[in-house]
Amino acid sequence: MVYCLTCEISFQAGVNLTLDDQLLDFTRARWNRMLLNGFWCLLVLMVILECLYLIFITPLASEDFIRYYMLVPTSLHLSVLVLTELCLRFLEERLRDYTLLAAASVITFIIVDINVEIGYIIPALFTPVFVSIFYFSARKLIAASIMSLITLYCLYFFNVKLNISVVGILALTAMLGAFCLIAWGVISRGKEMRQYYIHTAKSNQELLVKNILMDKLAKTDALTELYNHITFHEYLDKLIEHHESTRMPLQLALIDIDDFKSVNDQFGHRAGDSVLKQVAELVRSQAGMNDFVARYGGEELAVIFTDKSADKSLQILETMRQNIEQAEYSELGSRKITVSIGFADYDQEGKEKFFIRTDRALYTAKSQGKNQIVLAGDGMEGEKSRFAWK
Ligand code: GH3
Ligand code: MG
Ligand code: MG
Repeated sequence: MVYCLTCEISFQAGVNLTLDDQLLDFTRARWNRMLLNGFWCLLVLMVILECLYLIFITPLASEDFIRYYMLVPTSLHLSVLVLTELCLRFLEERLRDYTLLAAASVITFIIVDINVEIGYIIPALFTPVFVSIFYFSARKLIAASIMSLITLYCLYFFNVKLNISVVGILALTAMLGAFCLIAWGVISRGKEMRQYYIHTAKSNQELLVKNILMDKLAKTDALTELYNHITFHEYLDKLIEHHESTRMPLQLALIDIDDFKSVNDQFGHRAGDSVLKQVAELVRSQAGMNDFVARYGGEELAVIFTDKSADKSLQILETMRQNIEQAEYSELGSRKITVSIGFADYDQEGKEKFFIRTDRALYTAKSQGKNQIVLAGDGMEGEKSRFAWK
């Protein structure tokens, strides 16, 4: 549980979510796949329609019809699809969308070219323009319009069966222009909505970060950046509860700076603050990921150990004590700082007794000459705790 809190806070401190346009394009590959699937369906549909045409309508000889209206266009259509599949797999990402637009152009060209007698099928050449809307990109719309124009004019100039006047081709060009304008409107509207979405998402993100920081402020002490008194009690409650069901290791240490009042008196409150900060850092640097370090009160710190044996925790505390004793404190010249530590291993006794036992050990450490660790006994009687329990 302490670990969770540690993760939570470290996440809170280092939170740096990014949100950009690319994030919104994460479904593009899926859309490309769906488009290509659509082209495959179109191929199947064309084969079915041509079969129906062959059976029920065409006046041509079956062999001719199969060769010119079925085998040739179907194999061309198939080749385009296979080539597009390969391009989607191997081409770099920014070219894949253009590949699909080109595939749409060629496929519609093939379909219109063989069915050119059916006049109303000609606007199918504008399909790439509609496909380009998928990408919400004006550049792709322009590319698709050019492709559609090229296929239209190729048909006009090279397909002798296309019986269309100059006025007709101009009308078709105008229609294409109108479709492009509509497509451009849709794209612009989509871009506006996209901007709105990005803006809203960014605001939410900022709000989230602010909440996280506020939460952190509420849980930590401003001077030492350790957890504060309230959070200490909250977590000790939770950890004891957790211990009751899991029997996880649980030990508590109370660390009190020796003669700190005289540090303030001699060097000033500012120097005292700086020493307090340094001591807090020395304690935190030795504590593990799952250990919980708090500033319990004025010059008193608390450490809760949750994942080690009492011996291991005592070793860590001894290292802390030595580091604090040996450290140089720039504001204090040659004066040393020491701490006294009371330590207790949880004994299914409830929070109150657990805390008082630890505090009494600290009291003993003070009365025995300070700068030492005292391991709590198991009785509650005898010496009084310095704290009146709330
Ligand atoms: P002992 O060895 O018995 O612990 O003696 P002590 O002087 O450390 O203990 P005492 O409780 O008499 O004094 C604690 C002092 O810690 C008093 C208070 O001014 C100082 N103190 C508490 N919080 C802060 C703080 O945030 N900054 C500074 N500079 N001093 C603080
Ligand atoms: Mg004190
Ligand atoms: Mg003290």
